[in-house]
Amino acid sequence: MSHHHADTRVVSVESEHYNATLVRRVDQTADLAYFQVRFDGAPVPFEPGQYMTIGVYANGRLLQRPYSVASAPQDAGTDGYELFIRLVPVARFTTALWRLPVGHHMRMIGPKGRFILEPDDRRTHLFVSTGTGVAPFVSMIRERMAQGAPRRTVLVNGVSYADELGYREELERLERTGAYPLRYVPTVSRPQDPRNADWTGRTGRVESIVESACHDCHLRPDRTVVYICGNPEMILNVESQLMRLGYPEFHVKKELYWPKAKRAAPVA
Ligand SMILES: Cc1cc2nc3c(=O)[nH]c(=O)nc-3n(C[C@H](O)[C@H](O)[C@H](O)COP(=O)(O)OP(=O)(O)OC[C@H]3O[C@@H](n4cnc5c(N)ncnc54)[C@H](O)[C@@H]3O)c2cc1C
Repeated sequence: MSHHHADTRVVSVESEHYNATLVRRVDQTADLAYFQVRFDGAPVPFEPGQYMTIGVYANGRLLQRPYSVASAPQDAGTDGYELFIRLVPVARFTTALWRLPVGHHMRMIGPKGRFILEPDDRRTHLFVSTGTGVAPFVSMIRERMAQGAPRRTVLVNGVSYADELGYREELERLERTGAYPLRYVPTVSRPQDPRNADWTGRTGRVESIVESACHDCHLRPDRTVVYICGNPEMILNVESQLMRLGYPEFHVKKELYWPKAKRAAPVA
């Protein structure tokens, strides 16, 4: 039984510039927030897992960055596109975005990306993420649930501090109520930090718990499809661990949120 599907479907519509508005913002921590961006015109269809590129003007220059959509496609016309974004304090895009008032105009292009679910895939879905990399998986789960066609899912999300776990309440509720066949596996990498004082769940980086998560959830390499999203170092580490555990390479899909750092130059 082979479940190898090549990425042959053409899913991205012709990209165009669209006028959009920031319609809502909900802050999770000082540097994490949920943004709802709505097209001023008709919504554009997308597949869960795809991203939109949003743009804001700062000092007369248009800055643009890609963000995975966390909302379900059927909500694009009403609520818009939900994005879960970390403020990176480097004075580029996110610092400008954080200053943008709700109701302000912005740009949005998309969708793009091939990090999407395969049709009719009966395998268990192992979703592995760091930080905001949970976003595309939330879209996938919400959409599959709305379609009444859930996929058996294990979702790993690693953060530094427990208060950074995006969509935690929603995911815990889906798991607790059985509304979706989900095992939610959050982990915090800095258990000793006072910010994590109340945390009683798993600890350690994603790389160090993914093997035990696979074991605890009885995942079998030949019946599991793996999607990994977020920090590129984590993605490469998790991928090589899964290869070691016998997961075939074509069962693994990846979405890197930034380029892998070049190897540090040797100290002269
Ligand atoms: C396909 C794709 C989807 C993306 N989806 C998201 C998303 O859903 N949410 C999101 O917050 N970002 C996402 N990103 C990253 C995003 O596009 C920006 O790079 C990020 O918001 C930082 O923008 P910046 O201009 O402030 O800094 P940049 O100059 O663009 O980045 C500076 C540095 O910040 C770090 N960094 C970038 N993004 C993150 C992050 N999310 N968490 C922690 N550190 C980071 C990296 O080390 C990077 O080199 C995605 C990137 C890609 C390629």
